[in-house]
Amino acid sequence: CGIVGVLGSHEAAPILVEALKRLEYRGYDSAGIATVEDGILDRRRAVGKLVNLSDLLVHEPLTGKSGIGHTRWATHGAPTVKNAHPHQAGRVAVVHNGIIENFRELRAELADHGVSFVTQTDTETVALLTEHYMSQGAAPVEAARQALGRLHGAFALAFLFSGEDDLIVAARKGSPLAIGHGDGEMFVGSDAIALAPLTDRISYLEEGDSAVVTRAGVEIRDAHGRLANRPVKTVQIGD
Ligand code: GLU
Repeated sequence: CGIVGVLGSHEAAPILVEALKRLEYRGYDSAGIATVEDGILDRRRAVGKLVNLSDLLVHEPLTGKSGIGHTRWATHGAPTVKNAHPHQAGRVAVVHNGIIENFRELRAELADHGVSFVTQTDTETVALLTEHYMSQGAAPVEAARQALGRLHGAFALAFLFSGEDDLIVAARKGSPLAIGHGDGEMFVGSDAIALAPLTDRISYLEEGDSAVVTRAGVEIRDAHGRLANRPVKTVQIGD
């Protein structure tokens, strides 16, 4: 139900949990984060309130300055740890708001390629599809774009990749997504409120946009793959 992402200069885990807290008012049943450090992608997930995720992180810390986070409101698959986001398939981790309407067709197609599933969610399909394209030789951004081109439904998505300490791919179709611009840091949030303590410089993705985010900035393309200019606005959001 909430998405956050950070390519920062400090440890990402506490920043991600704090940003997710600012989205708590939207309601959720589970939460999780993934980080990448020195190319290694890892994740932690917990059912229930964010404090459960924080407690888990005390016992099983997650280091790294790049990461994505999610609060889930289950639509497909029970609210369990296994079904919580981020979903990981090989080299890619994905967080998702909304519903992938054609996930059953995509699952069947992936099953034909010998891919197996560990969750009941629609979201896992996005991770598996992206990993599938990477296994066919696509680079991370290209693989994510290929997967995005296959999805029907209303969604916001953020992708994090192993081997890529400075990359988040984000996309919006029917569910809002904001890009936060810091100084040598970049952020992603389903709501600018999540990013309020981090930056007040926000650009909003439009319908069908996808974004390649690095610490140097963001490159946004529209639904037709054309470079798009989405203005950076200074927003005022109270604490
Ligand atoms: N459909 C996804 C799921 O059930 C995402 C739900 C959400 O927006 O939190 O996991």
